Amino acid sequence: MSTVPEMFGSKVFNDATMRQRLPKETYKALKKTIDNGEPLDLSVANIVANAMKDWACEMGATHYTHWFQPLTGITSEKHDSFISPTADGGVIMEFSGKELVKGEPDASSFPSGGLRATCEARGYTAWDPTSYAFIKDDTLCIPTAFCSYTGEALDKKTPLLRSMDAVSNQACRILKLFGINVPRVTSTVGAEQEYFLVDKEDYKARRDLILTGRTLFGCPPAKGQEMEEHYFGVIRPAVSDYMKEVDEELWKLGILAKTKHNEVAPAQHELAPIFSTTNSAIDGNLLTMEVMKKVAERHGLVCLLHEKPFAGVNGSGKHNNWSLSAPGLNLLDPGKKPMENLRFLVFLAAVIKAVDEYQDLLRVSVASPGNDHRLGANEAPPAIISMFVGDELGEVIDALADDTEYHDHERQKMDLGVAVLPKFSKDNTDRNRTSPFAFTGNKFEFRAPGSNMNLSDVNTVLNTAVAKELREFADILESAENFEAEAMVLVKKTVKEHKRIIFNGNGYSDEWPVEAEKRGLHNLKSTVDALPTMMDEKNLRLMNDFGVMSPAEMNARYEVGLENYSKVLNIEALTMLEMANQQIVPAIIDYENQLASTIAVKKAVNAKISCNAEEHQLETLAECADIISEAINNLRIARKAAKNDPDPLGSARGFHDVVIPIMDRLRMAADHAEQVCGEDFWPLPTYTQMLWYVKD
Ligand code: ADP
Ligand code: MG
Repeated sequence: MSTVPEMFGSKVFNDATMRQRLPKETYKALKKTIDNGEPLDLSVANIVANAMKDWACEMGATHYTHWFQPLTGITSEKHDSFISPTADGGVIMEFSGKELVKGEPDASSFPSGGLRATCEARGYTAWDPTSYAFIKDDTLCIPTAFCSYTGEALDKKTPLLRSMDAVSNQACRILKLFGINVPRVTSTVGAEQEYFLVDKEDYKARRDLILTGRTLFGCPPAKGQEMEEHYFGVIRPAVSDYMKEVDEELWKLGILAKTKHNEVAPAQHELAPIFSTTNSAIDGNLLTMEVMKKVAERHGLVCLLHEKPFAGVNGSGKHNNWSLSAPGLNLLDPGKKPMENLRFLVFLAAVIKAVDEYQDLLRVSVASPGNDHRLGANEAPPAIISMFVGDELGEVIDALADDTEYHDHERQKMDLGVAVLPKFSKDNTDRNRTSPFAFTGNKFEFRAPGSNMNLSDVNTVLNTAVAKELREFADILESAENFEAEAMVLVKKTVKEHKRIIFNGNGYSDEWPVEAEKRGLHNLKSTVDALPTMMDEKNLRLMNDFGVMSPAEMNARYEVGLENYSKVLNIEALTMLEMANQQIVPAIIDYENQLASTIAVKKAVNAKISCNAEEHQLETLAECADIISEAINNLRIARKAAKNDPDPLGSARGFHDVVIPIMDRLRMAADHAEQVCGEDFWPLPTYTQMLWYVKD
């Protein structure tokens, strides 16, 4: 086996490979594009394309693809071979600059939210040179942006790249005021990915897992996560083998897979990479999800990335660790004395104001039917967006807002009372798992995103909202006579005005929603509640002002969001109906039949013999079956009505307000029946079987 450093990035056309394979001038031009966001010449692209192709062919690749992220959020690829016919009837392998920088896939079968009609099929993909090309399945994958014939973004990457430019431009203006001249500030992301592993045979026996990614039925196992033994528990050999292979595959793809551990729920795990520039971190995360699924297949397992595969145990999130960095500087690092670190305070104030003013957009960016099961349940942060800053920074903020004096904290040493144990300094923030947006020492951790999401939306909102606040600050401070004094006044004013967004208490408590309402914070409980805020004037203006998304592009995403919500719920409702009709009701009837015949036979033998046990089970099952049957009828009608509502918002509301409560009733009755029905009769693998599978 090769060593990790040898393996790392071996399938990536990365900086080292570029430096080695490109003429010096070409390399320099490309590097300028990558580092400073400067445009690239076609003549340069031609040379890069040829070098890429040679490298890819040496690695065994035969095809290339423009790899992009349509509004479905997942990745798309169409493979073309490098072959080009020669006069003598043979082929040579060719790849031009034109083919590298631009592709023309048929755009008509991707969601566009009305941005183009089906007959206007043409779409373009455009090379994102800031994210490295890589080889997957003998295909050279070129990360690209995807837009319509008319130039509107039809993907997740384009707005993200625009937002990265926006925040860079404004952050550079601020840094200049501090005497720091840099060409670019990058937003950085580290995405912690949670997932479940289940046995492939169980998966194959569950239509709900196959079609919807989550279990729509299943009574809680006798033992769930209450013993708190799985989190950071010893990783079982079968899972460890899987994790090792995932790591290796990711390293080859240049993804900085770093941390792996068991998560809170049984059968739940996490993988975290070392952070990188936002767009490549997101490309890396999408690849990570793909690799995790593929490798699981090879181990007789299935990797579930749904936000809530199992009711009653924790769901899966994807924590978005975010910061801003200039060469050699993390702009959210408070240093030893945050109160005296004016640069940090300015950036902190901008983030506080951004999160407060655009709570609704941040909430929308994590809204999906799957994530609705997490947010607000006592396992993930609430649907109310607030910020946690910890004690030390909390005191700094109080002092700024109240204009009172602040006393620096001596960094406390921890003494565990045992001589051989090291004494170490305490961090300046504790952890608060209940907060959606927590300061964690030198970055913010947005914990609301769901495990299945493409993090582009989240970071597009974050970058653009922060850009807007930084621009406001720069506009004021660039004409300041006494920069430092005026910057401090601005920080204080901002903190005072937006302090309501800071909440260091328990986000799971019943008091918090009441308190949040008093503070005037949004509590957008479901996707359907959240989505319409996208179209608020203030939000349209934000995206438009920075050229991140036009109102038409925003509207498209709004429509796609509603459409997606209704489609997911429609599939879930249909799957439930199918399972209830074809699997659950027949199972109940079979067992009822057995009970009834047993009673009849016993009575025939001796009319006095007790049949209490059988009768009791039979009665319970009959009651469950009645509720199930009624729910089936109601669900059929409600689903149809919601689906046929011509108004997209009305349709989504129909699913949320009417269909979901019936689905809940149907499930409750079926889960009750599962508890009573004979094991040999029940047609579905149970929660106990799926969560406590042993594969060693
Ligand atoms: P925890 O479990 O405490 O949240 P982890 O170590 O699992 O911590 O994950 C923290 C994540 O934050 C890692 O992906 C890490 O690379 C990332 N991170 C650290 N510093 C930054 C930064 N400046 N910008 C973005 N992400 C960062
Ligand atoms: Mg975390």
